[in-house]
Amino acid sequence: MKTAKIRNIGVVGAGNMGHQIALLAALSGFKTTCTDISEEALKKAESFADKYLPERVAKGKLTQEAAEQARRNISFTSSLEEAVKDADFVIEAATEKLDLKRKIFASLDKLAPPHAILATNSSFIVSSMVANATARPAKICNMHFFNPALVMRLVEVVKGPHTAPETADVTVELCKAMGKLPVLLKKEIYGFLVNRVLMALTNEALYLLDQGIADAEEIDLAITNALGHPMGPFRLMDLTGVDLTYHICMERYRETGNPADKPSPTVVEMYARGEWGQKKGKGFYQYQK
Ligand code: NAD
Repeated sequence: MKTAKIRNIGVVGAGNMGHQIALLAALSGFKTTCTDISEEALKKAESFADKYLPERVAKGKLTQEAAEQARRNISFTSSLEEAVKDADFVIEAATEKLDLKRKIFASLDKLAPPHAILATNSSFIVSSMVANATARPAKICNMHFFNPALVMRLVEVVKGPHTAPETADVTVELCKAMGKLPVLLKKEIYGFLVNRVLMALTNEALYLLDQGIADAEEIDLAITNALGHPMGPFRLMDLTGVDLTYHICMERYRETGNPADKPSPTVVEMYARGEWGQKKGKGFYQYQK
């Protein structure tokens, strides 16, 4: 399949990442259907599109015509079947849990047309862990967007041992068609490229916090000013979701059994208290709803 043949995109998950990936696809001219098991997430995603598009027009970043076209291109449904039955390409952006993703991929394999490529936006789970839940492993790869997906240009495309070269090529081309800057990883590795580097930094920042060396604000201040990062690791965790950090560490720990892979005590406590960052109004920082 060539990228030019892609007309319809299905996005599974309308959360932090999915709602923006879906809108990006719609803005890039693809008929996009976004699905979620949560009606609330779907409603929020739809309201976001209804707010974002006119705002872009008002700012002069988008023509009225392009905004209207994008709105026509995107639809929302709680039916997975509805979302992917005509899809040429599916981007899975559901909760970061391996067993859940394996179930979703097994269903996608049954519901999406045989030619469709099924990509996962997972931050850490390599696609070989979901590919064997399907009968089309050659059409499975990682397509890892960064948060916020409408803004961040980089996308990591990761080729697993099962991924056909054509699948990787089409995915790279699709990233470009969405105005993104793709990097192709030729082999699978846990955490891919950016998150391996980021996790090293975040783990060290959490260690400093847990040891009482400095508080989150001071560590963020140091990192932004000394290393030139636009955002410190704690502000970034609030944006990406403290719950996501928790799930990523727990998944890794389940896989390796290495206690060093467990989430830090601070993350465990915040996860239990529901202080998941911006989406909950409180994380390492306080936010107005
Ligand atoms: P999120 O919790 O904000 O959203 C996940 C959504 O998936 C929820 O709305 C949930 O209802 C939905 N969901 C759960 N089970 C489902 C199912 N069976 N079918 C359809 N939808 C289902 O999570 P997120 O932050 O958007 O992360 C989603 C994926 O994107 C994860 O794999 C994560 O690793 C990856 N990712 C996240 C970020 C980030 O910064 N948050 C960045 C890059 C990649």
